Amino acid sequence: MHNKLLKDLPSISALLETQLLRDASVEFGHSVVKASARNAVAELRERVQLDQRKVDMPTSEQLATIIVARLQQTDQLTLRPVINASGILLHTGLGRAPMAKAAVQAAAEAAREYCNVELNLSTGQRTRRSQSVADLLCQLTGAESAHVVNNNAGATALVLAALAGGREVIISHGELIEIGGGFRLPEVMETFGARLLPVGTTNITRKSDYERAITGQTGALLVVHSSNYSISGFAESPKISEIAKLAERHQVPLIHDIGSGALFDLSEFGCREEPVASESIQAGADLVLFSGDKLLGGPQAGIIVGRQEWIEKIHNHPLNRALRVDKVTLAALRATLKLHCQQDDVVESIPLLRYLSTPLDELQARATQLSHSLQQAFPSWEVQARPDEAYVGGGSVPSQAIASWCVSISAHDTDINSLALQLRIGSPSILARVHKEHLLLNLHSISAETLTEIAQAVSRAGERLQD
Ligand SMILES: *Cc1c(COP(=O)(O)O)cnc(C)c1O
Repeated sequence: MHNKLLKDLPSISALLETQLLRDASVEFGHSVVKASARNAVAELRERVQLDQRKVDMPTSEQLATIIVARLQQTDQLTLRPVINASGILLHTGLGRAPMAKAAVQAAAEAAREYCNVELNLSTGQRTRRSQSVADLLCQLTGAESAHVVNNNAGATALVLAALAGGREVIISHGELIEIGGGFRLPEVMETFGARLLPVGTTNITRKSDYERAITGQTGALLVVHSSNYSISGFAESPKISEIAKLAERHQVPLIHDIGSGALFDLSEFGCREEPVASESIQAGADLVLFSGDKLLGGPQAGIIVGRQEWIEKIHNHPLNRALRVDKVTLAALRATLKLHCQQDDVVESIPLLRYLSTPLDELQARATQLSHSLQQAFPSWEVQARPDEAYVGGGSVPSQAIASWCVSISAHDTDINSLALQLRIGSPSILARVHKEHLLLNLHSISAETLTEIAQAVSRAGERLQD
């Protein structure tokens, strides 16, 4: 019995000769398919040896079908575009800000060709990598000098290591935060050799608290914008300009981590109380740090702007080399910053800003249009356009809900969680929200041209589930 069943195991060569696996070899590569076939046969052999009576031996064709399904599932790991209907505009899981057309084009060109990332073409001499964006960053923020690294967490680490390694960094108790994904500011600081000296209390920190803590051991004063939470009610902290005066008097640098990196006031789009980089420089911060892929709407990057003497120190620190950005990022960042320089068009040309500025009645009209076409396709569903809330997210703009619209779907004949899954794994992939047995498609980060595509994708997913 035992031996007989084992003899019936499909052979690797028979499997590889099936039409299914021949086609798969063209798509995924012969060695990948062969390895997959080996694994499948080995698993089957093990099952036969463990539990011979219960194993229904598959034919080569049947096993090939299973192998192809597995290969396709693994292929889902390939990064691909996702339509973001989650209502979170800067979704970290979706790579935060989508880039502007001009940035995408610049990135593609830099990727395809050699480019002068560290070479001055007029002199033939080596230059600094940040040179290609420093002029625009200074222009947009009013800073003396600028530097760019991999992301803002990296910028924080580098700045603290360069300015306050082995010394104390004074920070308000209320700003000892975890930004998300386990990134705890105090841990990062200590990893890079700065000793933390928290002052004040969670809700109240006064200028005098900073002043009393400054000694010969002080490496820097650090102010962190509480991007992902807010302390409201009985709360107080001094203005940046007041802390800057104090820092100047005691000759210690003031570092301001503003987080999301608004380059201009975005309060009319629902982002209130977001510090603006140029205002922080104007108020006297020595260094201002922010991300490239949050409100700036560009590629992932950590941007450091401020006084030349500190930027020099940062540039020369060994950690800088470990955090450097590549040519593709720099090309995309420069193109994004150029759009910011063209103030009249910036809101139209940067997708994130365009989404944030879409009028509410326009969102309502789109939600109504989409809900009608889905209701028509699925008369048994209950499809409605509904007011909803969107969030900037990505560690930007604490708990500020932005008024928005969504399409809500509920159904007696279709499992809503299965529908959400089908939408995620479908093509195009769509990330929706499920709330109390309703599937919600928020339209805040979706352009008008995408609505038809969404209607078709939802229809296909719905039909697959009803079959
Ligand atoms: C988002 C954020 C960071 C981390 O920035 P990354 O670019 O994600 O590394 C650091 N500080 C603040 C205040 C932030 O909001």
